[in-house]
Amino acid sequence: MRKYQTSEPSLFYYQTGENPRLLIHTGTHGDEYEVIDLVMEAVKKYEDYLPSFVFVPVVSPSAVAKRTRNNGRGIDMNREFYSDSDDKEVVANIEILENKEFDLFVSFHEDPGSSFYYIYDVKFSDRVDELVLAHNKKVSDMGVELLNGVDDPDDDFLGYEFVDGYLKLTHREEYDDDGTVSAWVLNRRKASEYYCPEIPGLVDIATKRKIVETFFEKVLVERYK
Ligand SMILES: [Zn+2]
Repeated sequence: MRKYQTSEPSLFYYQTGENPRLLIHTGTHGDEYEVIDLVMEAVKKYEDYLPSFVFVPVVSPSAVAKRTRNNGRGIDMNREFYSDSDDKEVVANIEILENKEFDLFVSFHEDPGSSFYYIYDVKFSDRVDELVLAHNKKVSDMGVELLNGVDDPDDDFLGYEFVDGYLKLTHREEYDDDGTVSAWVLNRRKASEYYCPEIPGLVDIATKRKIVETFFEKVLVERYK
């Protein structure tokens, strides 16, 4: 894979092939930094089994530098991701997505206060994703607890009910831009499907690594084989 830089010099990304089909993000929230290196390892390990992709390891360099959820200008990248943003990190990320059409967007996050694993599966159809269910089963077999219940009862923005770490959300055709990166991507048909694995922040790094690896194996490699 080749490394590229946007016109905002702090933002870089990797790309394979001419017409990437898979978009991978990490480092959107700076307090969720451990998953960045783990996904980088997995991308290198599974590169030959993936379709052409774009990988943006550090979506918000200033947030990751500070290890805070918000970036250097106090912006939560996953709540204020709008086309007319004047935040240089939002602008640079949109620059990467211009003139590209993916079929799948995956954004890895960590839930810093959680020891449970869960994943959002968002697409225009209401199909339950058997690959994700198989992945969740493997994670559970590893001894990681899957979230059953509401993701974040204190956050009005969230409040989704998970079953065995899985939540299927059907993206509506007329969905509003709600400031999430996924809404921006899906609304513009930059991708038609979105996964958001929420790696439990409270488990050790070896367990986080295994969760990321099984996601690549069971979901991404299987999907594109
Ligand atoms: Zn996050």
